[in-house]
Amino acid sequence: MNIHEYQAKAVLKEFGVPVSKGAPILAKSDVDAAVAALPGPLYVVKSQIHAGGRGKGRFKEPEAGEKGGVRLAKSPAEVAQFVDEMFGRTLVTVQTGPAGKQVNRLYLEDGSDIEKEFYVSLLVDRVTSRVSFVASTEGGMDIEEVAHKTPEKIVSFSVDPATGVMPHHGRALAKALKLSGDLARQAGALAEKLFTAFVTTDMAMLEINPLIVTKDQRLVCLDAKVSFDSNALYRHPDLVALRDETEEDPKEIEASKHDLSYISLDGQIGCMVNGAGLAMATMDIIKLYGAEPANFLDVGGGANKEKVTAAFKIITADPNVKGILVNIFGGIMKCDTIAEGVIAAVKEVGLAVPLVVRLEGTNVELGKKIISESGLNVIPADDLDDAAQKIVDAVKKA
Ligand code: GDP
Ligand code: MG
Repeated sequence: MNIHEYQAKAVLKEFGVPVSKGAPILAKSDVDAAVAALPGPLYVVKSQIHAGGRGKGRFKEPEAGEKGGVRLAKSPAEVAQFVDEMFGRTLVTVQTGPAGKQVNRLYLEDGSDIEKEFYVSLLVDRVTSRVSFVASTEGGMDIEEVAHKTPEKIVSFSVDPATGVMPHHGRALAKALKLSGDLARQAGALAEKLFTAFVTTDMAMLEINPLIVTKDQRLVCLDAKVSFDSNALYRHPDLVALRDETEEDPKEIEASKHDLSYISLDGQIGCMVNGAGLAMATMDIIKLYGAEPANFLDVGGGANKEKVTAAFKIITADPNVKGILVNIFGGIMKCDTIAEGVIAAVKEVGLAVPLVVRLEGTNVELGKKIISESGLNVIPADDLDDAAQKIVDAVKKA
C-alpha cells in the first residue's frame, strides 16, 4: 500500500526523522490555515499523488500554468495562486503515464535553502533477504539514470536482522554520502531512525530523494516515498487509515473485496486463472502468440461460484478487454464447479467478447460437458497452447 508524501513525512517524524514543517491542503479553503502554520517567507507547494517526478511533471490544463507539480512560492499570495492553479488539475509525470493523475491534495511546506541533494532509500533485498540501504551523492534526479550511467556512484549495504541497525551502518551511510564532522554524525542518527521506522511499520520501500544538506548544515528529508507491505497491514490499523482509494485502480479495489489477486495491465486479453504460477504462465503464452494480457488474476485455490462471478464482472467491466481466457486447473476445486461458475457468471453479466475456456484436472470431462451443453458461445480448448492460440486468433479476427 502506498501513501502520500505528507503522510509519509508524518510517520517518519514520529521516529525522529528530520523533515520540514508542513501543512496538508485537502480543500482549497485550507490555504490560509496552512500558510498561518508556517513561518515563511519561502514556501513549497507540492502536489500529492502516488507517483514521483512531480517537480519535472506538467499539468494538462493550461489554467495550471507552465510550472511543474512542485512549486516554490515567495509569499502567501503566491501560495494562494499556485494552490488555485494546481488543485483538481491533472499532473503528468514520467511515472503517471500519459493519462496523468488528478491532484486532489496539496502539501504546503516551509521552504529550505539547499546546499546539496542526496539519494537514500531502504528496501527489502530479495537476494540477501535483508533490509538494504541504497545511497548516492547524486540526489534529486532520476536514480535509474544514475544507476545506468554511473553505477559506481550508488552504494548499497544491508543490515543483519540478528543485530539490527548498528553504529557502523550509520558510518557506512555517512561515507557513502561523503560526509564528515557533524553532518556524518547526523547521517549516523538518520540511518538508525530510518531503519527503525522501516522495520517497525513494516515498510516495503522507503525512498528519500532528495535528502538535503541545508545552508545551515542540517540533514533534512525533503521528499519521502513510502509503501507498506500489504501482508503486514493487519498489524497497523493506524496506517491502513492512510489509504487513499482515489489513487488506486477501482478494479483492484473491487477485486480485493472478493479476496482475488488482481493486477490491471495494458493488454486486450482478460485472464481468469487459478494459482499465481499458472496465471504467470498464461500471461507468458498470450505474449508468445503475439497479444498482451489485460490483467493478472488469480482466483485462488478455493474459488467458488460467487468468486468466479465477481472475477468475471471485473474483467468484463474493463473496456480494454477484447477477449477472455479462462484457464483453470481443477485440483481442490473441481472442473464442474468452475464450469457452473463460469456459466452462471456469463448468464448474469452477459458476454460481448470471445471467451475461451480451458479446463484440466478433477472432473474435467463433466466440466467440459456442462460448458458444451450450456448453449453459450464459449470456445473450448484442450491445453494451454491451444487455448492461447484460440483466444489470440479470436481477438485478432474481431
Ligand atoms: P518529485 O519531483 O516528485 O521527486 O518531488 P520532490 O519532493 O523531490 O521535489 C522536487 C524538487 O523540488 C526537489 O528535488 C528540489 O530540488 C525542489 N524542492 C523541493 N522542496 C524544496 C525546498 O524546500 N526548497 C528548494 N529550494 N527546493 C525544493
Ligand atoms: Mg523527489
